[in-house]
Amino acid sequence: MTATVSSPAKHLAREFGAGGHVSTELIDRIKYAADASHFLYTPQVVAEARNAKDVAAAFRASSASGTPLVLRSGGTSLCGQGGGDGIMLDVRKHFRGVEVLDGGKRVRVQPGSTVRQVNAHLAPYGRKLGPDPASEGAATMGGVIANNSSGMSCGTEFNTYNTIESMTFVLPSGTVINTADADAEAQFAGAEPELVATLERLKRRVRGNRESVETIKRHFALKNTMGYNVNAFLDFEAPLEIFEHLLVASEGTLAFIAEAVLRTVEVPKLKTTAIAVYPSLDAATRSLPALFDSHAATLELMDSRSIKVGRTFDSVPEQINGFELGGQAALLIEYHANEEEQLREYEAAGTKLLTEFDLETQARFTTDPSEAARRGRSARGSTRRWPRHAPPAPPRCWRTSRCRWRTSLTPAAAYRSSLTATPTTRRSSSATPRTATSTSSSPTASRATTT
Ligand SMILES: Cc1cc2nc3c(=O)[nH]c(=O)nc-3n(C[C@H](O)[C@H](O)[C@H](O)COP(=O)(O)OP(=O)(O)OC[C@H]3O[C@@H](n4cnc5c(N)ncnc54)[C@H](O)[C@@H]3O)c2cc1C
Repeated sequence: MTATVSSPAKHLAREFGAGGHVSTELIDRIKYAADASHFLYTPQVVAEARNAKDVAAAFRASSASGTPLVLRSGGTSLCGQGGGDGIMLDVRKHFRGVEVLDGGKRVRVQPGSTVRQVNAHLAPYGRKLGPDPASEGAATMGGVIANNSSGMSCGTEFNTYNTIESMTFVLPSGTVINTADADAEAQFAGAEPELVATLERLKRRVRGNRESVETIKRHFALKNTMGYNVNAFLDFEAPLEIFEHLLVASEGTLAFIAEAVLRTVEVPKLKTTAIAVYPSLDAATRSLPALFDSHAATLELMDSRSIKVGRTFDSVPEQINGFELGGQAALLIEYHANEEEQLREYEAAGTKLLTEFDLETQARFTTDPSEAARRGRSARGSTRRWPRHAPPAPPRCWRTSRCRWRTSLTPAAAYRSSLTATPTTRRSSSATPRTATSTSSSPTASRATTT
């Protein structure tokens, strides 16, 4: 590709200097064209950030060339937020640091480290991260924070929004703030007066309107990662605290998260697992409230397509075999406890419930770790094989409707339910991707949200 005067590649090459990795080679651009979603955006240029300064330089190049910029980390996003047709900036490779703090109660992470790597550092302390996406082997902390990813056990209580303690971020203007600094609020107000005034104005606007307050409370009472975390305007007072929590789930549209400190959670000492196969998806979902009330820690849904994929694994749990597959659905059910007696109590309650449901195969709990892992793999692993079996792209644009983790469904199940669900978009109805434009000195994004 020939660089023109305003080509983003030329701006990037100048900003990164000698030794900077900037490429317009087709093979590199195609490598970054797909994330785990159905969208395909081939970037014009790809670059690797070596440090936060490179990210600030890339923001400048984006601004100077008027080319949208997308931050790419693990690239496992399911709704297209990891793709773009302008500048693609890899922020995974050179940001791998992990530091365990306070005997594992907190952890400092750089954004390119994966969930599994961070948890491996925490394991000797009997602790782990709150967010537990099924993609833990590839999903990185940058993506987890920017997507507010969760998983089967974390719910809303232990997601990033609720476990983030502080972070260092880089704004498109080049301002760098570490929210842990004692004078961070003053730094923020001094460097970004317009942004701070806007946050104050929005806070007043949200809090002064009863309908807005009620809408936000209603939407965020449940797991909700659609749109910005506007609940931050109700939950926090100071502009920097609000902004920090808006960055969670901002999908790279507001700033680059260069480092973060998160509170961790205890790894339960004991767990027991069962797979229950129901005659229909409807029957499976109807059983959820009772199972939830019985203190199930994990309820993971497999629809019939997931069961079909799960059956192709080398080691298949007997519960999902031995019947003709039609519209059945299965639930992976887990109870967690630290005491044997407590676990037995939960298990007895779960077993009693399962006898009351109309099941296709006999469901029994096991505490055997290898059997539990096999069951877990069949539920979570089937999602990894999903793309091969995926039907053609859905008829409407996910990029705007953004079906994300509204419920604790596996990706496969979430995918299927999204085909029939009514879109509940709270975003812009235009399909404009995130941009860092030449006029933007404030947040990188064109991502629109309503309250
Ligand atoms: C098989 C499978 C299972 C999954 N299971 C789950 C699940 O259980 N729960 C769940 O919530 N999600 C799940 N996901 C979705 C996805 O894996 C997660 O959301 C994951 O956390 C994304 O991380 P990533 O490193 O791949 O981020 P990417 O896809 O690279 O990026 C995600 C977003 O974050 C932005 N970003 C990345 N790094 C930074 C940074 N440093 N600063 C600012 N912005 C940044 C990007 O621009 C992008 O918008 C699953 C996906 C797959 C393929």
